[in-house]
Amino acid sequence: MNDIPSLFGSMVFNDTVMQERLPKDIYRALKKTMSQGTHLELDVANVVANAMKSWAMEKGATHFTHWFHPMTGTTAEKHDSFIAPANDGKIIMEFSGKALIQGEPDASSLPSGGLRTTFEARGYTIWDTTSYAFIKDETLCIPTAFCSYSGDALDKKTPLLRSMEAIDKQAMRILRLFGNTSANRVLTTVGPEQEYFLIDKEMFLKRPDLIYTGRTLFGTPPPKGQELEDHYFGCLKPRVFGFMKDLESELWKLGVLAKTRHNEVAPAQHELAPVFTTTNIAVDHNQLTMEVMKSVANRHGLACLLHEKPFAGVNGSGKHNNWSMTTDTGINLLEPGETPYENAQFILFLVALIKAVDDYQDLLRVSSASAGNDHRLGANEAPPAIMSMFLGDELTEILEAIEAGTVYCNKQKHPMQIGVTVLPHFPKDTTDRNRTSPFAFTGNKFEFRMLGSKFSVAGPNIVLNTAVAEVLKQFADVLEETENFKMDLALMIKDTFHKHKRIIFNGNNYSDEWVAEAKQRGLSNLETTVDALPTFVSAKSIELFTKHGVFSESEIHSRYEILMESYCKTIHIEALTMVSMVNGEIIPACIDYQNELALLLERKKSCGGYDISLESSRLQQIADLSSRLLNRLSALEAALLEYKRGQEILEHATFVRDGVFAAMLELRLVVDELEMLVAKKHWRFPSYAELLYSVV
Ligand code: ADP
Ligand code: MG
Repeated sequence: MNDIPSLFGSMVFNDTVMQERLPKDIYRALKKTMSQGTHLELDVANVVANAMKSWAMEKGATHFTHWFHPMTGTTAEKHDSFIAPANDGKIIMEFSGKALIQGEPDASSLPSGGLRTTFEARGYTIWDTTSYAFIKDETLCIPTAFCSYSGDALDKKTPLLRSMEAIDKQAMRILRLFGNTSANRVLTTVGPEQEYFLIDKEMFLKRPDLIYTGRTLFGTPPPKGQELEDHYFGCLKPRVFGFMKDLESELWKLGVLAKTRHNEVAPAQHELAPVFTTTNIAVDHNQLTMEVMKSVANRHGLACLLHEKPFAGVNGSGKHNNWSMTTDTGINLLEPGETPYENAQFILFLVALIKAVDDYQDLLRVSSASAGNDHRLGANEAPPAIMSMFLGDELTEILEAIEAGTVYCNKQKHPMQIGVTVLPHFPKDTTDRNRTSPFAFTGNKFEFRMLGSKFSVAGPNIVLNTAVAEVLKQFADVLEETENFKMDLALMIKDTFHKHKRIIFNGNNYSDEWVAEAKQRGLSNLETTVDALPTFVSAKSIELFTKHGVFSESEIHSRYEILMESYCKTIHIEALTMVSMVNGEIIPACIDYQNELALLLERKKSCGGYDISLESSRLQQIADLSSRLLNRLSALEAALLEYKRGQEILEHATFVRDGVFAAMLELRLVVDELEMLVAKKHWRFPSYAELLYSVV
């Protein structure tokens, strides 16, 4: 474990391995495909496949799989062994170029949102050469894109790659206007910070709600929650430390740049942050991280919870999507520059982002919408469902001075006449941290903080890349035609800031005042998933994505259907789990306890002379609550009877939210009251206190 450099990437068919194992001409042909997307000839693929197979077998692999990102939010794999029959009744180990490049999984059971009918079950997986193959579970995994027979994208990877192309194209136009001739590509970079909970596996297995839904559907808060703020950055408990060490070493083997580990705010909550990398690789790596977290936890007798809100009353888990744009020559375009030209370029990209976030606030909101994340957004632990941007006071004042054409005074009170090409030097750390902002500038990148912990980061980055590509396109269309670049650039910056500054908010996003102010500013507040999702199929959204070739109209509709259905199904499963826990465990617990109290009461009465106030009042309380429990259970069961899918999807989802989910909240309230009164020995499953403090 001490030799991390040789451990790192040891399970990845990376550039070093390619150089070692591929003939020079093959290596060059493959690199060309990787960097320029050129067609890969079958004879080249055959050689690459063979080299991959030998390398993988030396590392203990027996199978290969095309590894892809269907629209479930997780990853999919179907393993095939390398074996092929030989004439003499024996076998040979085989992996062809064809099998490397393309697969044809029967995809009829993966969601397609109507893009593929079951009888056209065929889907294709196509090697994404920009992401390295790797070995996991003794299986060679080939990262792939997944599409239907007719060429529609059935996955999250394909539109992500398309969105990266869109922003690359438009950002390059801008760079050329600033005289940059050395860069050939603009890539987006992402560093996703991943939050999670760790609890004891035995406890986990005693909670059907955690098993089926990933969150607790009942539970009273423990006597101690997060109020002492003693868990955040606290020292790691030995079992947690053991888990983290093992997790990191597994991730390093897979080439994932796991960098930072720490305890988070809630008890039993932790975080892992990687070093940022190119977006599509960051997406692959984040999916792997979540998967490896679960399997390593299992090995340690732990359960890793990735749900956005496993426990009511303490913080849920999110994912922070740190995002920037960088050239292939290594220049971060969101880094304030040194020279006047660099400054102007930085400011132009900055206002492009301001405009993109303002123009497409609804779509960014959509990209973080799910049943799980509805518990967090706006619940005083995560940004509200209102999109806004934090720039920090200094940068905001600079932009205001540019807008007004006034003198700007820096912190040392030095007045300065500034313009778009003359900026004061401002140190990065003046963009002080605002933890409440959904979209914060943190010195040389933006941090999009609305995402839920379980999300694939593909979706939010597809929206972000495309929205920014669109604004850069609008800018480039104007600036390429101008006769006076400097003047029109200055005008564009002033004008854009003026029109879109309503999206900038440096204050406390958790406050009620902000909700009121945001309304006045005309910002949208799409509180739930059901409110947010329809904007995805709006004319504006369809125009944006089709214009940049990121989604076709039918691909947008399919995703809308899938997201809505997933919302409904998630809540349906939760409701069914609640009903079964109430019937199978909670009602019996109430009966047992009442029985015990009634017997005792009887005995005391028959002996005479004893004070029976405790037993009788407790019995009465439980009996009262039990009848309320029964009423609310019936209400939920009635709502579930109405759960039918004949209606139009939006109508259905609205019923699920206002009928089923509302009934679940009511039912939970009574059960939680009962949990506080019923004797522990009768309560069938572990309490919050036990779950949250189970790992030592
Ligand atoms: P926080 O204070 O929010 O926890 P950290 O500094 O721990 O922030 O993490 C910041 C994350 O941002 C890391 O994953 C880091 O790699 C990532 N990051 C840094 N620079 C960039 C960049 N240019 N593009 C994308 N992500 C970046
Ligand atoms: Mg962060």
